[in-house]
Amino acid sequence: MGACYRVGRLKVRGRVYDALTMATARRGAKDGVKPKGRRAVLATVDYTLAKRALLREVRHGLRSWAEVCDAHPELMRAAKHVGEQSRRDCPVCGKAKLRLVTYVYGDDLRQDNGRVWPLDVGLTMAADRPGSTCYVVEVCTRCQWNHLAEAFMARVAG
Ligand SMILES: [Zn+2]
Repeated sequence: MGACYRVGRLKVRGRVYDALTMATARRGAKDGVKPKGRRAVLATVDYTLAKRALLREVRHGLRSWAEVCDAHPELMRAAKHVGEQSRRDCPVCGKAKLRLVTYVYGDDLRQDNGRVWPLDVGLTMAADRPGSTCYVVEVCTRCQWNHLAEAFMARVAG
């Protein structure tokens, strides 16, 4: 398994996401994505609403673009070299397709905590390790927009 980049903590736009932000985990897959395979055993948190709210704040002048387009150099490198190209345009500059960077955090991952993985590997790791979470961050390699897109964690049986 060859992950290339590692960050100390998952830090996206100055915020650290942890188990507390997962409290609103909802069951079910996203629209248009049929729950199957690994995704069927993973609970999903979708951050689309939070993202839209943030973009609205910027458009209304409550935040600056510089404030939201501040991807850490490590995150930018990960996005460029190991990120997976999505089909969505950057919501800020519209000049590049977003790249998705996948991290997995869990108690038993030790030195693998915070490493970047291919999305399917990250989902498998989260599915196999109750208590761990797979985070997918969207990054624009052009304007440095970055935001947590989705989080996946193993469903608790019973
Ligand atoms: Zn952009």
